[in-house]
Amino acid sequence: MQLPDPGLAARSLRAVWHPCTQMKHHERIPLLPIARGQGAWLYDTEGRRYLDGISSWWVNLFGHAHPAINAAVADQLGTLEHVMLAGCTHAPAVMLAERLSALTGGALGHAFFASDGASAVEIALKMSFHFWRNRGQAAKRDFVCIDNGYHGETLGALAVTDVALFRDAYGPLLRHAHRAPSPDARLAAPGESAADAAARALAGVARLFEARAGQLAAIIVEPLVQCAAGMAMHDPSYLRGLRELCDAYGVHLIADEIAVGFGRTGTFFAHEQAGIRPDFLCLSKGISGGYLPLSVVLSTDDIHDAFYADETARGFLHSHSYTGNPLACRAALATLDLFETTDAIARNRARFDALEQALGALASHPRVTHLRRRGAILAFDVDDRARPGQPGFAQRYARHALAAGALLRPIGHTVYLMPPYILDDEEIAQLASATMIALEQTLHAS
Ligand SMILES: *Cc1c(COP(=O)(O)O)cnc(C)c1O
Repeated sequence: MQLPDPGLAARSLRAVWHPCTQMKHHERIPLLPIARGQGAWLYDTEGRRYLDGISSWWVNLFGHAHPAINAAVADQLGTLEHVMLAGCTHAPAVMLAERLSALTGGALGHAFFASDGASAVEIALKMSFHFWRNRGQAAKRDFVCIDNGYHGETLGALAVTDVALFRDAYGPLLRHAHRAPSPDARLAAPGESAADAAARALAGVARLFEARAGQLAAIIVEPLVQCAAGMAMHDPSYLRGLRELCDAYGVHLIADEIAVGFGRTGTFFAHEQAGIRPDFLCLSKGISGGYLPLSVVLSTDDIHDAFYADETARGFLHSHSYTGNPLACRAALATLDLFETTDAIARNRARFDALEQALGALASHPRVTHLRRRGAILAFDVDDRARPGQPGFAQRYARHALAAGALLRPIGHTVYLMPPYILDDEEIAQLASATMIALEQTLHAS
């Protein structure tokens, strides 16, 4: 391997078009050249290290360069790197499909694989529409999404996304979707509970379903935490209410657990906390432990059976070249093993209680509101005045956090922590301390 190149960042800005970035901003914001990762830490080309406080965009679960996942991928490399999944199959895809199905208690027993989160969302939307069409109800062709929801950047996923910055430029390209109110607990009026805010949002869904059920295929929701909205959290009763409304009006429930699945909310899947199952479950991000692009849509027998017929055209004729890639599936199987061998869900309770405690001072901080936590996701909002001519809060905070030794990327005025599941006591203290130092520096440094 080549030695770290001090000019790597400059070369990257010339040759690589970076995602979710106004490239010109890198005239004043340095690009961080990463040479390697180990455990919860990322090391830059100068040898400085940063605690990965956001799991490299919510994908990493058990740390970087985990020996067990490394070994599984390396073993698969010497066996079968890839084969198409149309007409062929392989053990890693079969085993992963079986284990994911078992994790839903067998309720969602049919796994359709793809590569990225957005492609899983596209698949769920297309499958839902095609299900109704195969059942002779082609008029059910509209989708409902939630205010401030996020489902990815491809055109179909963006059409059910409500983040203005990502969406507005492409508005003319997007198919209309109906929007229902957000159940965000922060919208509770004084004296109201999170459940009250959820009930009000459900009333909005009920009105929409009442008026339009005959033309609705599905509603898509991020269970428990709308992450891209700024870690907007809601009461589980919202999901129970949605399940009842979907059953009553014949509308599919698509759970997008791309960010919140795999233990992030404190249970393996977020929807478990509501005691319900969706009709479609979209998974990605943590599925491969943060190693390789992999996504999957799990669906019920009822959905699968509507496509099962002699005619080719009644089948789901969707594909991606790398569907069910064996290397990615092996990384996923090794990740599932780690949930068992490390008892991750149970141990995370104590670990993230400790992180919350270490940040206890935030609860009474005069500039902090809505300190909140759901499982392994912790967030708070910061009251910060705009500073003309200076970068916004999120960019300034991220810079101070790096200087304090943590990779953090606030969303707007929301700071959040979503680290891998492996922090020891010292790393918890380091992450909490970097979070607090960065906050004070951002608020008080000129
Ligand atoms: C990240 C994300 C997606 C899109 O996944 P990609 O792999 O980035 O395409 C979709 N839905 C949710 C809830 C996400 O957080």
